[in-house]
Amino acid sequence: MTRVVRVDPLDPREEDLREAVDLLKGGEVVIFPTETVYGLGADVFNERACRKIFELKKRPLDNPLIVHIDSFEQLFKIAKAQDRYLHILERFWPGPLTVVLEKKDVVSDVVTAGLETVAVRMPAHPVALKLIRLLGSPIAAPSANVSGRPSATSVEHVLEDFMGKVKLVIDAGPTPFGLESTVVDLTKSPPVLLRPGPVEVEKLVEIFEGLIVPDFVREKKGFSGVPPSPGVKYRHYAPSKPLVLVEDLNKMPQVLREHPNSVVLCVKEHSHLYEEPLVLGSLENPYSIAQNLFRALREAEKMVGKEWIVVEGFEEKGILFAVMNRLRKAATEIVR
Ligand code: AMP
Ligand code: MG
Repeated sequence: MTRVVRVDPLDPREEDLREAVDLLKGGEVVIFPTETVYGLGADVFNERACRKIFELKKRPLDNPLIVHIDSFEQLFKIAKAQDRYLHILERFWPGPLTVVLEKKDVVSDVVTAGLETVAVRMPAHPVALKLIRLLGSPIAAPSANVSGRPSATSVEHVLEDFMGKVKLVIDAGPTPFGLESTVVDLTKSPPVLLRPGPVEVEKLVEIFEGLIVPDFVREKKGFSGVPPSPGVKYRHYAPSKPLVLVEDLNKMPQVLREHPNSVVLCVKEHSHLYEEPLVLGSLENPYSIAQNLFRALREAEKMVGKEWIVVEGFEEKGILFAVMNRLRKAATEIVR
């Protein structure tokens, strides 16, 4: 049985989070909202509970988890944060920025997949923050989706993947950004962008001098040999139907002739060009496109009679850089 507890996203009551805290303390996993996507969380100091995350998600054991903290005190407990980056973290936290740091011994190899580093983030969602505070320890949590699937941005998606498999889901409505956090590896000098996200790359290059933006964040694969971050070698964010990403929009008519049974995902400005498309959002508000992306992918895969999902590509600017990263990883075919 999976219980869903509805809470106020802005001001959750302690009594509404009590059950979740008790389950976490007892070594169970709980699904909770963050400002990026829903997370499947466990007490970071409970190794058995953290193992359950991998089992439930069918996540490869070599793909480490992000640890969610509520304070700098918790940061210093689990990671060695270089002083020169602290003022940057103070500026961006709480928020959708994850940093990879050298870990401390208290963090289990299960969480870091045997690495000497740990990925850490202080989420800005009031529910996530309060849950961590009430638990009194950080929460290790990847996105609450079965490995490889589009991330869950609402409880409806969470239940598609985990109904009956977890005891408790905290429902705070749709997640504000709808896209996973930005990940920057600070153990490298200069720092390396591992995953683009809501904290925009244009801002990051100003802050992290010499930031490296590797090919693998722009391309479907884009690396050879040892993967730079364990997660990048796996297929991600993928709906159950083949996805064609059309980067050269001039080629859209040809693509649609070749794939007659398809549903198109496009921006509002182009919706008149297609037959019954799913509208992602407006170019005037690119964050709306990010927010709807995974919802639209999950909706498209359920559409009867549609064999293909055809998605318009975007110029890689701001949050749309992150959207393109997810789409390229999810795509079975890219048309340029
Ligand atoms: P998710 O849990 O789905 O939000 O994905 C977390 C991402 O962070 C994955 O791509 C991981 O491979 C990456 N990650 C987590 N910990 C580390 C680490 N210590 N070093 C490098 N990448 C990491
Ligand atoms: Mg994920």
